[in-house]
Amino acid sequence: MTDIRTGNGYDVHALAEGLPLFLGGVRIDSPTGCIAHSDGDVAIHALCDALLGALALGDIGKHFPDTSEEFKGIDSKILLHRTMEMVASAGYRVSNADITIAMQRPKLAPYITPMRQTLAEIMGLEISRVSVKATTTEKLGFIGRGEGCAVYATVLLIK
Ligand code: MG
Repeated sequence: MTDIRTGNGYDVHALAEGLPLFLGGVRIDSPTGCIAHSDGDVAIHALCDALLGALALGDIGKHFPDTSEEFKGIDSKILLHRTMEMVASAGYRVSNADITIAMQRPKLAPYITPMRQTLAEIMGLEISRVSVKATTTEKLGFIGRGEGCAVYATVLLIK
């Protein structure tokens, strides 16, 4: 019998002027970047949380604590790599991932394909199995004011 598991992840980071912005493993040209202990790749963090959620293994903060020197400034692609190792050792593979980035600016359209390519490569998937979407919040709330960004991620795992 096929064992199918779904997982969802959600992450928010505050934005500040002059910090680099990384989303989905890609450097984004932006006047603001995420305040974070790691490189602040909020998209990868939500994706890792979705994968961990599907495995019922807790959350990203449990596995990669933001109090640890080991993870200070770390490239979040490494966190995704390590999370994928947990997926494999639990005997699962990823069927697909769907990520929605909620951010007022900059426009993310030029970065969608590079993000999909980067994530698909790390996850060992065809790009057709990795979706990245972007939305604004129509200038409403903290996202709309450009104070932060949020990412929602959903994954399906198959054993
Ligand atoms: Mg985070």
